[in-house]
Amino acid sequence: MIQIVDKSFETFLSAEKIQEEIQLVANRINSDYAGKEVVFIAVLNGSFMFASDLFKRITLDCEISFVKVSSYKGSTASSGRVDELIGLNTNIEGKNVIILEDIVDTGITIDKIFTLLRAHQPTSVQIATLLYKPDAFKGKNAPHYVGFLIPNFFVVGFGLDYNERGRNLDAIYKLKGDVPTQNTMLNLVLFGPPGAGKGTQSERLIEKYGLVHLSTGDIFRYNIKNDTELGK
Ligand code: 5GP
Repeated sequence: MIQIVDKSFETFLSAEKIQEEIQLVANRINSDYAGKEVVFIAVLNGSFMFASDLFKRITLDCEISFVKVSSYKGSTASSGRVDELIGLNTNIEGKNVIILEDIVDTGITIDKIFTLLRAHQPTSVQIATLLYKPDAFKGKNAPHYVGFLIPNFFVVGFGLDYNERGRNLDAIYKLKGDVPTQNTMLNLVLFGPPGAGKGTQSERLIEKYGLVHLSTGDIFRYNIKNDTELGK
């Protein structure tokens, strides 16, 4: 357990686990974009550690740019707040872009960045995030590459802060006693004909995300085999 300012945090994801997962994300990107040029756009402040550790493992022809999103009051009364992307110092027109985020929570930030980047006419835009809180997500652009799906916990470390502290930690910690604020059930439905590997894939998902697995196929097979009421 650690203390940051006035709060206690407990270990949630170890430094080793984070590094292993970043390697897997890098492998997927290297394979998906093989032979292509990619521009990574890392969103400051939180993503600097993820961006650095991921970028080291990218074997593609690639560039990286660090940006911040700022929101300011427009000059005319009717314009309201205007979002601006600061620090995009590379031309992304016609390029494959991967946005790097530390965490996708409600998805509002990523939606803003998507809109701002689209104006520069890239060929494609995908999102890679170390952490994703699907229960909090309300956005239009879900992340494509995810290190860890996490419940609605408040977390710090590995670039993420609590009152600007804790970004230097090499592991990720959750607020002590924090319980998810919403339903943490996530339904994953795998489609495919018999023998396509749905069972194998679901076992990998269960292991990776610590899921509770309930397969209707397993239930039916069990009931048919045991000649239960349901199985008849
Ligand atoms: P979103 O726009 O997706 O709701 O959230 C984006 C930002 O909220 C993140 O980039 C991050 O700065 C902050 N955030 C969301 N959840 C957490 C969390 O659990 N811990 C910390 N430290 N920041 C968070």
